[in-house]
Amino acid sequence: MTNNPHISFEFFAAKTPEGKQKLRATCEKLDIYNPEFYSVTYGAGGSTRDTTKDLVLDLQQDGYQSAPHLSFGGDSREDVLSLVQSYRDAGINKLVALRGDLPSGIGGSKQLVHANELVALIREHSGDYFEINVGAYPEIHPEAESYSKDIYWLGEKFKAGADRAITQYFYNADAYFRFVDECAKTGIDKPIVPGIMPLTNYHNLIRFSDNCGAEIPRWLRWQLKERSDNSEDLVNYGIDVVTSLCEKLLAGGAPGLHFYTMNQWQNSATLCSNLGLPTK
Ligand code: FAD
Repeated sequence: MTNNPHISFEFFAAKTPEGKQKLRATCEKLDIYNPEFYSVTYGAGGSTRDTTKDLVLDLQQDGYQSAPHLSFGGDSREDVLSLVQSYRDAGINKLVALRGDLPSGIGGSKQLVHANELVALIREHSGDYFEINVGAYPEIHPEAESYSKDIYWLGEKFKAGADRAITQYFYNADAYFRFVDECAKTGIDKPIVPGIMPLTNYHNLIRFSDNCGAEIPRWLRWQLKERSDNSEDLVNYGIDVVTSLCEKLLAGGAPGLHFYTMNQWQNSATLCSNLGLPTK
């Protein structure tokens, strides 16, 4: 069992004043779990550049340690570095560095910049100032050439200077443990924190998971489908399933948990409470 597990919460960049207000309330509720940071996503292709930046700066100013997600999107090196510098000027010292995806509807002619190159650029510019988190895929990234090649590229992100990986969500603990073992065999010794997606909506989950290559086990798919018309039943069932997943992960030595909150505090807070995570 991991002592003092790393805890972090992820938000997407709320655009409306109501959405921002709700996020602040969400932070207030989750803050008792003393997270290391609240991360804020970066829209595909940099489409939320300003919204993400504004939100991150606001949260940081309110005393919530923030970690912006960042990718090249369609930006130049100079634009990326200027954004990185503005985070540094605001006292932000954690980033989640990603390749990102192209926004839907944009063709494949544009070349995305891989995360290892972004990590290298940030290190070249800012030395050791930032703690850099990167993405990892226990069930393997959908565009990976092979299982081993995906691990090889994760290793390259660490070699470029990443400090920690946060995984895509999954519901099969063995996939995570096997992945971590395979990573260790290649010399990766940095923390790989499981990303945890609470189960709240059947249709959204299926759509999301098909897009990002996360597997919903057949038994779980059927159980959720049966509850898809009764959100309370589905959420309660989902809390049970995800609590035992998290228990297994922590008992098996996972270094912490990163919750995909979907900007809602209730499910992540219930999971933290069920797990008996320390409070402030
Ligand atoms: P990379 O590490 O660059 O890997 C992408 C693919 O290319 C993999 O198949 C890998 O095997 C291969 N590869 C890696 N490096 C190289 C290389 N140098 N040369 C050739 N092949 C290579 N998306 C967003 O748009 N915004 C977000 O805020 C966001 N947040 C996320 C947070 C987490 C924790 C995770 C796990 C994912 C997030 N994503 C986000 C999704 C992510 O951007 C996509 O999964 C994207 O397709 C891959 O990003 P990456 O940084 O893992 O890419």
